[in-house]
Amino acid sequence: MSLRVIFLGPPGAGKGTQAQNLAREWGVPHIATGDMLREAVAASSALGLEAKRHMNSGGLVPDPVVIGLVGERLGQPDAKTGCVLDGFPRTVAQAEALDALFARTGIALDRVVFFDVSRGELLRRLTGRRICRACGRSFHLVSAPPKVAGKCDACGGELHQRADDSEATVATRLDVYQTQTAPLLDYYRGRTLLAEVAGEGPVDRVAEAIRTAVGQAVTR
Ligand code: ADP
Ligand code: ZN
Repeated sequence: MSLRVIFLGPPGAGKGTQAQNLAREWGVPHIATGDMLREAVAASSALGLEAKRHMNSGGLVPDPVVIGLVGERLGQPDAKTGCVLDGFPRTVAQAEALDALFARTGIALDRVVFFDVSRGELLRRLTGRRICRACGRSFHLVSAPPKVAGKCDACGGELHQRADDSEATVATRLDVYQTQTAPLLDYYRGRTLLAEVAGEGPVDRVAEAIRTAVGQAVTR
């Protein structure tokens, strides 16, 4: 079995949480460009230094950089069975590059899942988000607080706020999403690949909606 799915939606929609769980369930790699870029930043590679400027201001990292990164990742052996793409594509140019990449290898995209979440809820989630420096797990100051303030429940690591989760930068990211990423909805709707799920509500309920949306596209 193979499964290729894109999780599409604004920052804070919950793509990362769902992708992590469902990719494991489906036995395919979770490919998150945001995580890959943050790793490059942490390693202070040339690519990381270039990416950091854009990320901290809330803008997008240039298409050629991200397309190169994803192209390389999809060429690795574990991606032969498929993937859950989280945070990519984010522009029409990236979507076209992905089409070209898949076409070259005779591979088809199975589904694009769009996470529908209101702007108010996105702002609330992003500005209250805190992340463990050690294991990457996320918490929310109000809706999912850690047992001990400032400490990760899973590993005891120190919680911090991502540089791009400050209020001003979050507003920029939501605007960038509207202008650069939202056009992808029509791009995929036109090819009848798009399924919309309600991204508010409990994690389990959202997961079930995604399973249904993806299951309809795939004979398993
Ligand atoms: P979120 O979805 O919460 O904004 P991500 O971790 O997916 O967070 O992305 C964080 C930042 O990394 C983005 O604001 C952007 O600067 C950069 N980034 C991630 N994916 C892409 C992409 N496909 N194209 C361009 N920039 C990207
Ligand atoms: Zn931790």
